[in-house]
Amino acid sequence: MTISENLKFIRRQLPDKVKLVAVSKTKSNDQIMEAYSAGQRLFGENKVQELMGKWQELPKDIQWHFIGHLQRNKVKQVVPLVSLIHGVDSFKLLSAINQEATKNNLVVAVLLEFHIAAEESKFGLTLGKAEELLANPETKAMKNILFKGVMGMATFTSDEELIRQEFDQLSLIFARLKQLYFSADDRFCELSMGMSDDFQLAVAAGSTMVRIGSSIFGSR
Ligand SMILES: *Cc1c(COP(=O)(O)O)cnc(C)c1O
Repeated sequence: MTISENLKFIRRQLPDKVKLVAVSKTKSNDQIMEAYSAGQRLFGENKVQELMGKWQELPKDIQWHFIGHLQRNKVKQVVPLVSLIHGVDSFKLLSAINQEATKNNLVVAVLLEFHIAAEESKFGLTLGKAEELLANPETKAMKNILFKGVMGMATFTSDEELIRQEFDQLSLIFARLKQLYFSADDRFCELSMGMSDDFQLAVAAGSTMVRIGSSIFGSR
């Protein structure tokens, strides 16, 4: 199937309100343009250098999301180029983003990343750490950060029950943070979860934003 057929096939399975981030990491400009021609405008990248090149060369109405682990020394390059940063998992990173956003006179939208998987290696906050972060007066004073919601990755496994539990857990985390810190803020509304192999389970658990790469562009 072609990229545009893959996109159609996936969109048909998504409720209208669920946003599709086409994860284009490692893929060529030509492949991205094929998705663009099929109407796709939201793309996800996880390497700063690669994002910078693609941003330069591709149409300016593309909305880029940074979905990888962002190092603080790369914040400066990323902030001016993206409409959403998915992987914020520490106060220090958040603070660096706010500082850079302030310099650029921008408000930067972010998602808090949670560790929901059984695997050790993945990044992300615990609920306790996130509550600490959000209750911190210094966080509240960050005028150039816009909290849009939460993000997480399930365990890489064929055990659907485990994946379902992990997505339910992230959904509960979202609901709790919403209630405690953002009950009057409609902008805190995104639950970014679901990839090629598990997006149907994520949508069933309340995902508002799926990040799909290989099912659109082929394996990497
Ligand atoms: C690569 C990546 C994806 C997409 O993975 P696929 O299995 O190719 O759909 C989604 N989210 C993050 C954070 C990624 O790094």
